[in-house]
Amino acid sequence: MKKLIPVLMVISCICNSYAIFAQSIPSTSIGKIVIDPGHGGHDPGALSPDRKLREKDINLSVARYLGGAIRESYPDIEVLYTRSSDVAVDLDKRGMLATEGHADLFISIHVNSTRKSVTVPLGPETWVFGGDRSLRKDDSYEVVLKENEVIKFEENYRAKYEGFDPENPQSMIVFNFQKDAITRQSKILATCIQQTLRSGPLKGNSKDRGMKEGGLMVLAYCSMPAILVELGFINSASDRKILGSDSGRKKLARQLFLGFDKYYKAVTQENNVTASPRKAVEKQYRVQVMAGNEKIHATSAVFKGYGQVDYIECPEQKYKYKYTIGNFDTPEEAQEFCTQLRSKDFPGAFVIAVQEGKQVPVK
Ligand SMILES: [Zn+2]
Repeated sequence: MKKLIPVLMVISCICNSYAIFAQSIPSTSIGKIVIDPGHGGHDPGALSPDRKLREKDINLSVARYLGGAIRESYPDIEVLYTRSSDVAVDLDKRGMLATEGHADLFISIHVNSTRKSVTVPLGPETWVFGGDRSLRKDDSYEVVLKENEVIKFEENYRAKYEGFDPENPQSMIVFNFQKDAITRQSKILATCIQQTLRSGPLKGNSKDRGMKEGGLMVLAYCSMPAILVELGFINSASDRKILGSDSGRKKLARQLFLGFDKYYKAVTQENNVTASPRKAVEKQYRVQVMAGNEKIHATSAVFKGYGQVDYIECPEQKYKYKYTIGNFDTPEEAQEFCTQLRSKDFPGAFVIAVQEGKQVPVK
């Protein structure tokens, strides 16, 4: 019998969903991480056009480098792998290993592909478990189908995943063990990792493929913050240069580590936005990127990884908080930074002046 739980409404565009991030991140500890190198054994994952390069091998080697980097910087964190050799592991077992082992984080590593080979760079995308994307028959839907497809090779999959149809990721929602708070943290981790990957060798083209949501089976069994990263495209000649070399894989693992590191610092330290400590008498110039009535965490995904996030309080105005990025001595410097922000992440950004914690005219 099929039991369907009503779909959690998950908002796909992080720009429109800042309410999700509007609460501060609960401080938490990270003692155990499960790294999941996708595919393995009889399931090679995606293949290069000449079929010599296999996703499963790339995933395993990047996973090992990532685990090594975490151990080196955080010797107290236990790092486990869902596989450490070329073997097949069922999708549910991967997530269950993390859930039953009380892991604090789950990172699944994959490589993407498109139907047609291309020469241009396509770059990374990062996934969290969610309902809405799986409804759409677009590229994202194909990734979900592809990554879930392996369960057809698993013995007895119809009985094991009763109620789940690999052709219809929406049916996945019955397996979702995740709570809202975990989904929110998964999104923060995904945002951190997507940003650091985008600043590494596989940056892709100018358009960020971003963070996506879908009914990915491997994430459905995770009861902790969990993401799946698609490092790049095996059938993009440009991406393949990085994916196919050992030095490229090391660099990718480094970027993954930096994303993890950013997340770690955000969730393990009290890192809330605080009112500006600068009570400078001098005028400071900042770039306002948004305003609202809720307190937003400085590391929130809505700030897209920018540092120097700050706010000023304006109790007498329509919006109580004005959020700013950057802090400059001259309006010209602020304007230059503002132009960059407007062209990329914050089209509505503008320069404001602040003096002794209060907004004052720029001129
Ligand atoms: Zn894969």
